[in-house]
Amino acid sequence: MSAPIEHTGPVPSAAVLEPFSRGGGRALMLGHVHPDADVLGTLLALGLALEARDWSVVYGGPHPAPDLLAFLPGVDRYRRLESLEGPFDVVVLTDCPNPQRTEGLIDQAKRAGKVVVNIDHHPDNRRYGHVNWVDVTAAATGEMVYELLTALRVTLTPAIATNLFTAIHTDTGSFRYSNVTTRTFTIAAALVAAGARPELVSRSLYEQRAPDALHWLGEALARVEVSEDGQMGWLALPASAVPERIVESEELVNYPRSVASVRVACLLRELDGTVKVSLRGKGDVDVQQIAAQFGGGGHVNAAGCTVPGPLPEATRVVLAAVRRAVDGAARS
Ligand code: AMP
Ligand code: MN
Ligand code: MN
Repeated sequence: MSAPIEHTGPVPSAAVLEPFSRGGGRALMLGHVHPDADVLGTLLALGLALEARDWSVVYGGPHPAPDLLAFLPGVDRYRRLESLEGPFDVVVLTDCPNPQRTEGLIDQAKRAGKVVVNIDHHPDNRRYGHVNWVDVTAAATGEMVYELLTALRVTLTPAIATNLFTAIHTDTGSFRYSNVTTRTFTIAAALVAAGARPELVSRSLYEQRAPDALHWLGEALARVEVSEDGQMGWLALPASAVPERIVESEELVNYPRSVASVRVACLLRELDGTVKVSLRGKGDVDVQQIAAQFGGGGHVNAAGCTVPGPLPEATRVVLAAVRRAVDGAARS
């Protein structure tokens, strides 16, 4: 392909639509590491729409879909991919700011695919596609794929609507965070009109706990710490402290975030000798800049990185960086 195409507006340009405008073909919907509802919901929604137009679609990424998201329509099609069997007429990545977050699959995809389309809302997106549509004003890539399907005049089925509604629901913390705009609600309303059921999505996301889950949640919450000045809250979890399934389904970082005085919340979890860090802010401290110091990234209010263990050392180093950021940023 010729020079990469870049588009940043909320509505897709003709160049963004072009790869999907042909009558059919073979498409790969490629997900990022540890896929969440924004990436899965958008890949499934777009893939299902293309299938209705006689495309053949492969869905997958470096890790399988988590059990928590088994309710997403079509997610049983999403597979862990070790290698890619091309060729593909189009390869789509959503919600994926950089090639490292595909664990090498993007390089294979570039060899196997004629056109790589990068659809994302992360400010640190690296523009690795042939077509790069990066709208940092979108609360979720779910909003962008809604705009894409609307521009392509796709009929929104309940399956497509449920996938996009869940993508938006999770990336906005159930429509609570500062990324929520009037557009978010307008799109959510259209998705409900098309058959997404808010009550069913909430129940599937938040009321499917195992009988022992609250016990483990208690174990985790007992480890929450808040700094003396109240501005930093964190939770450091050694590898064996709480089962993996609990950490994956509970968004534990939201608990230190919920302390009124906390400006930056941090979850540090030990995994295979390294420590995975989740950072959350409330608008006045840019946590993406903290994550970037450790080779990670994300958004102003939600970011992450992976740092070397052991856990106490990782906690010390990350909290020192959080302290510098908190002290350096004016309160909003
Ligand atoms: P998480 O805390 O894992 O829910 O991630 C929050 C945000 O940070 C998401 O937008 C991720 O894309 C981003 N993020 C998390 N971990 C990393 C990482 N290791 N490198 C780059 N971005 C990350
Ligand atoms: Mn994501
Ligand atoms: Mn997202």
